Amino acid sequence: MALIVQKFGGTSVGTVERIEQVAEKVKKFREGGDDIVVVVSAMSGETNRLIDLAKQISEQPVPRELDVMVSTGEQVTIALLAMALIKRGVPAVSYTGNQVRILTDSAHNKARILQIDDQKIRADLKAGRVVVVAGFQGVDEHGNITTLGRGGSDTTGVALAAALKADECQIYTDVDGVYTTDPRVVPQAQRLDKITFEEMLEMASLGSKVLQIRSVEFAGKYNVPLRVLHSFQEGPGTLITLDEEESMEQPIISGIAFNRDEAKLTIRGVPDIPGVAFKILGPISASNIEVDMIVQNVAHDNTTDFTFTVHRNDYQNAQRVLEQTASELGAREVIGDTKIAKVSIVGVGMRSHAGVASRMFEALAKETINIQMISTSEIKVSVVIEEKYLELAVRALHTAFELDAPSRQGE
Ligand code: ADP
Ligand code: ASP
Ligand code: MG
Repeated sequence: MALIVQKFGGTSVGTVERIEQVAEKVKKFREGGDDIVVVVSAMSGETNRLIDLAKQISEQPVPRELDVMVSTGEQVTIALLAMALIKRGVPAVSYTGNQVRILTDSAHNKARILQIDDQKIRADLKAGRVVVVAGFQGVDEHGNITTLGRGGSDTTGVALAAALKADECQIYTDVDGVYTTDPRVVPQAQRLDKITFEEMLEMASLGSKVLQIRSVEFAGKYNVPLRVLHSFQEGPGTLITLDEEESMEQPIISGIAFNRDEAKLTIRGVPDIPGVAFKILGPISASNIEVDMIVQNVAHDNTTDFTFTVHRNDYQNAQRVLEQTASELGAREVIGDTKIAKVSIVGVGMRSHAGVASRMFEALAKETINIQMISTSEIKVSVVIEEKYLELAVRALHTAFELDAPSRQGE
């Protein structure tokens, strides 16, 4: 008998009918003899609705109170699902993060799970109950409700699977697996049978929101077998695995990720002297702003330009800090751009193939898309481009790297 953790996302529990459908599905699994722990998100749109409400009171709601509120979305769905199961004669019980005791740090709105108490869940499973746990939420050591960041129910699912040493963690969603890129943008995208943790981690951190980054980190660290599947269609889904197969068919790149969440800042005409990068980025990091890509131009007239990207939410703060630095350093000007996007190609196959980056640049050049910044690592190449070319770039790269579904190629 296996122990399986199943997580159902927002659209999969978006209506009462869907919750009933999820209950039917869980019932079937249960009848197969497996022990089941279910994690659910809030009904689709609910978390956004709650955040909007808070913003009507204050542009920047107090993080602790925001958590008290947004965590209610998941409390509704756990109760509804437990009711739907009980109605079908399946013994079930629902728990909030606090009731399980999913202990997190106190970083409200982006808390990290520190520890999970598995006693209550194990006792319920032993008594034959399906346990339904609220995703996205926990409690800190002082008893404050915390939440894990957008998409955090994935992480609850994987963390529970790790704590319970489950045989598999199944992430049920509105797509039937992880695709070569977001199928909403490229209809020719293909489902991957397998993807390595390493690649999935890059895809998630570079913008593919199908899995929250931390859930992949957790799964890799604790070696949790993780699978992404469609909630209401049968199919094998995508397995996130440790092994890199050395097959001839291994593609050079496995997927394309993209992200519109960044903004770019340039400080022009700064003296080209040792320590200047620190003088520019020190105050930015002291303001708790994370920097992603960085480019320093070749010096000209003993001055240089320095460009970096930050999350769009941090743009205004970063600009303020940079203006201050600019006046201290006697820089010429600060310019900003929020209409950028980052496109990345990801694949362990890059390790054994040369010329991957130039193939990417060639494909973008053919579409006359200008590359503003470039960053590479062992298994990815990212470029920053103008936001309006994002979809075109993703489609062009998908074709250039031969990822289009065969039947539709050339469409
Ligand atoms: P849930 O509410 O179930 O957590 P999400 O909206 O968070 O669902 O994640 C599923 C969505 O992720 C899909 O509908 C799809 O548009 C998007 N997505 C982005 N990149 C990918 C990808 N590479 N493969 C599959 N889906 C992707
Ligand atoms: N309900 C939360 C969100 O919308 C968590 C999740 O769905 O994973 O971000
Ligand atoms: Mg999600």
